[in-house]
This record gives sequence, C-alpha cells and structure tokens, in this order.
Amino acid sequence: MSDSAPEPAAPANGGPLLTPVQERNLALLRRAGEPLVFDREFIDNVTEQALAGIAELSERLGGERLWVSKGFLANVHGCEAKHLHPDEFEWTAANAAGFVAHKAIELALNWRGEPTPADVVDEALARLADQADQRGAFVGGLSDGDWAELRSRAIDRTTKFLQDFPPLPRGAQPVLEAASKWRPPGSIEFSGKVDLAIGKPNGNESRLLIVDFKSGNRAHHHRDDLRFYALLHTLRQSVPPRKLVSYYLDYSDSEAEDVTEGTLQAALVRTLEGIERHVELTVEGRPAVKRPGFSCRWCPLRGECAEGIAFLAAQHNET
Ligand code: SF4
Repeated sequence: MSDSAPEPAAPANGGPLLTPVQERNLALLRRAGEPLVFDREFIDNVTEQALAGIAELSERLGGERLWVSKGFLANVHGCEAKHLHPDEFEWTAANAAGFVAHKAIELALNWRGEPTPADVVDEALARLADQADQRGAFVGGLSDGDWAELRSRAIDRTTKFLQDFPPLPRGAQPVLEAASKWRPPGSIEFSGKVDLAIGKPNGNESRLLIVDFKSGNRAHHHRDDLRFYALLHTLRQSVPPRKLVSYYLDYSDSEAEDVTEGTLQAALVRTLEGIERHVELTVEGRPAVKRPGFSCRWCPLRGECAEGIAFLAAQHNET
C-alpha cells in the first residue's frame, strides 16, 4: 500500500510487523478490485428524493427546526414512548471514556515518536479539561476517583486501538471525530460525527472508509448508524464512501459493509420514515407505540412502564 492509497497500510520496510489481529482487520478494510465510481444519475436521483422528502416533512413540521442524527433515528425507530421522553443524558466516567479515547487516538496519530497510551490519554484529558463546552466542564470538574476511573477506561480503549487496529499512514488522511452536516432547504438538518474517516478524495471515485468504534456488543442498529453516515456524506459531497466499518474494541474485530446503491437507498428510506414518525408523534397527534427491548434497561420510564417492567422481568428470568 502506498501513501496515495486511502486505506490502512502494511508497514514500510523496517517497520513493525503486523500482528495477526491487525492483518485480519486490514484484510477487511482493504480496497479490492476496480476503483468504485457510482452512477451519476443514481446520485442525482437519491439527492432529488431526499430534497423532495425533506421539503414535504418540513412543511408538516410547521417550521419547527429538527436535527436528524444517528441517535435520533435509532430512538424514533425504537420505542416511541422513550423517544418522546426528554433526554436525561449525563456524562459519567463510564460513558465519557469514548470521547477521551478518541482524543487520545487523534493525538497518537500525530505524536512525535512512538506514543504510549498513558501519555496520550493524559494529554487528551488535559486538553479536554480546557475546552469551553460540556465535555470540558465534565472533565474539568471530576473528583480524583472519577478522574482515575475515566483515565483507566480511556487507556484501555486507546491501548486496544493502537495494538489491534492496522497502522494508519498519514497519506490516507485519517480524521478522528469528523463532523459533517447537510442542510437542505426547509427546517430539517442532518448531522453526524464519524469516529474515524480514512481516505483522500480523487474525483468521483469512492475512496472514503468510515469507521465507528464500539465498546460493547454488536447491535442491529450499528449498521443503520453507518448507513446514515454514508447517506449524509453522499448528500453533502455527491460522492458516496466506499466502505462502512463497525470496529469492536473489546473484541478487536470489525464488521464491514461495502457501500452500494441498495445501501444508500435503504438509508434514505429509513431516514425519511424516521422523520415522518417524529412528525406524526409530535405534530399530528399519533399515540406513541411502545417497543420494549434492551433499551428498557436505561429508559427513564422503566419504573412506571408496564411493558418495560414485563420485558425486564422476562429477561431476568432467562438469565
Ligand atoms: S421502559 Fe421500555 S417499553 Fe417502556 S417506555 Fe421505556 S423503552 Fe419503552
């Protein structure tokens, strides 16, 4: 692999040998065969469908501004009662480890010399604590105990990435936490933040590899999350990415999907259907449908919801 190839590279002569895990992941990420170029007519058609759908749904929203993200779509396609409940999300040492590790990995990719996970995590924590936003306020206000727990979890994730993910050449232009937005006419905007984007543009050729890091088990919506990113990128750049990857840090394993016309069409349908559900629930008065599932475990309504209580009791009895 050369610097001009937008994918992780095998080490140059004299570099460290890839481990079997890195080899396995690299094989999944590699570009194979002819350069991928999507049909221009198809891209135009997807864009036109998206614009028409957004125009109609914006009108039904009656001017309300709506930001559509992968989390919004996962919620509205899950339990609608939970979707309507105000979000009570709070950062904790457990759930903040992801963004600290992402910052540490970003530093590691640009570090002078060989980075150690502890060094880049400490630097990431120091920089995050100086940020004038919610994350900065959280990191800056941690107790000694929570700080130590967060540091430990972030080092664990950073170490797993640095040891098991294939090395990334700078020529592939890797970007951590790459934010992207698409704002068509109307009141609806799409937004996303990709954990890792790899690939240098080259005309109409699809070269971009989109990677989402996951710290838990595989879940059905992980693929849908990535497909939404692919759609967003396509609407914004008019060139789809070539491959979508969920990388499971605890398992050192990847699940990869090639981007196809079918992938993008499915993502568009799911996205427009999700927005339509939200419009029906919030503007047009349709009653919410409860859909018990694993998300009942952390639903703020779980203490008072009969369906959720029954689901969790059944799960408990099975284990
Ligand atoms: S407990 Fe489960 S079924 Fe009930 S509202 Fe929450 S997610 Fe929905």
